[in-house]
Amino acid sequence: MNLFAPACAGILMLAGACRGQTPASSIIHRTVDLRIGETEEVTLSDGLAVKVKLLGLEERCDEVNGAVRQAEVRVEVDGQATNLTSGTYHVPVPLGRVQIDCPITKGYLRKSGQNPWGLLKDARLRLWPAGSAWIAPGSFVYPAKQRWFASYTQMANEPVYVDGGELPDKKEIYYHFGLDIGGSEGLVDVVSATEGIVTSSGTEVLAGQAADSPAEPRYDNVYILDGRGWYCRYSHLKFIDPAVRPGAHIALGQKLGVLGKEGGSGGWSHLHFDIWARQPSGLWGIEEGYAFLWQAYEREHPRELVAVARPHALAWAGQRVTLDGSRSRGRGLRYEWTFTEGGSGGGERVERLYEKPGTYCETLKVTDAAGRVDYDFMVVQVLDRAHPDQPPPTIHANYAPTFGIRPKDPVVFKVRTFRDKEGGETWDFGDGTPAVSVKSDANADRYAPNGYAEARHVYAKAGHYLVSVQHVRADGVPAVARLQVRVGPE
Ligand SMILES: [Zn+2]
Repeated sequence: MNLFAPACAGILMLAGACRGQTPASSIIHRTVDLRIGETEEVTLSDGLAVKVKLLGLEERCDEVNGAVRQAEVRVEVDGQATNLTSGTYHVPVPLGRVQIDCPITKGYLRKSGQNPWGLLKDARLRLWPAGSAWIAPGSFVYPAKQRWFASYTQMANEPVYVDGGELPDKKEIYYHFGLDIGGSEGLVDVVSATEGIVTSSGTEVLAGQAADSPAEPRYDNVYILDGRGWYCRYSHLKFIDPAVRPGAHIALGQKLGVLGKEGGSGGWSHLHFDIWARQPSGLWGIEEGYAFLWQAYEREHPRELVAVARPHALAWAGQRVTLDGSRSRGRGLRYEWTFTEGGSGGGERVERLYEKPGTYCETLKVTDAAGRVDYDFMVVQVLDRAHPDQPPPTIHANYAPTFGIRPKDPVVFKVRTFRDKEGGETWDFGDGTPAVSVKSDANADRYAPNGYAEARHVYAKAGHYLVSVQHVRADGVPAVARLQVRVGPE
């Protein structure tokens, strides 16, 4: 009798037998942590061995709170060199016989107060064979049932900002690790990105859960362990599906719960999704997942064009900010920027001087060679050097549903103001209908079920609409958020 075969409970499962069809051998990338000047030979998943060297590292910080905004490494693979920017919505780039990215560098640890990446050297590099997928097909899906960039995100080393977390002279910076996907509270299903078993659901923990597991169970989160040995965390859930019990086997794409703003969400509704894996240091650390999300979403929703105007920026009034759309993907792209304060600019990157404090949301329109159009929005928070204690309000907007909206369908729009005592927001739905005023609770109680102000809107005609919502503080300092909404045939 085989003792192990029927035992799909408890610790035997954790040994790997029942975590599903995604073995560790399906991981396509290889990870190496290096010090500057250090070289290591890496054997790729296709058997090819390459020599990888970290040549240099340059980190640029903002002047408001000294957070790293851009970390650039110079790397060499088999004698061929290139520069890579760490995290911040970058995907792997081709270099000779490999694809390579840089999830994290040491400067992010300096004011972080923690090391969720498990990085002990200067930088981490990941390598894939040239032309390979970044994540094995059939092993990973996009965990939120909504459109790509349907709302704000905080991804991969971007300091958290949506809830007004970025303040001058912060001693500690919360560089977001993992992937925050903003969405409409209670209206977006969260599904499992991987196949695996539930090691904890809320505060219930699987008996026999490995003592050294990286999981931190909490009432609003779920952990799924897969056959790769990855722990995926889903946080801030409003509801957890009753079938998601410790020990349960979860299929790829199975519903886990509903997006919310519970736990340490800061009061903005989003899914916090992250992946924990053993890193080269021997420590548990964040497995950067932006490239996996990108590819998983693209498999489910094939697309030719994606506008990317993220991450956000933080500046003092009187400073210049570079608006950067270079992470957009498509063929023969044309870039147009429209500024919140009026005016416009062309080009992949534009520089803009911000004279007055506020939370601005700049529109990037990209058009490809076939005439397709996509938009994204870059948030720029501008603070007054003379009044660092009065940072501008911030604002979060979302809508649902995001797919399959037809003319005459009701669409729910929600908004919440942060960092001001009073709410009060005005929507422009982008279709020529009159403005609509609402009033959120301004995050007075971050868990309030009706903390977001809700509006319903019906589009009479099919179209691609640019929606904006604004809060203005009593002294005139604005906070603006934007959304794009597609109505009618795809
Ligand atoms: Zn998060």
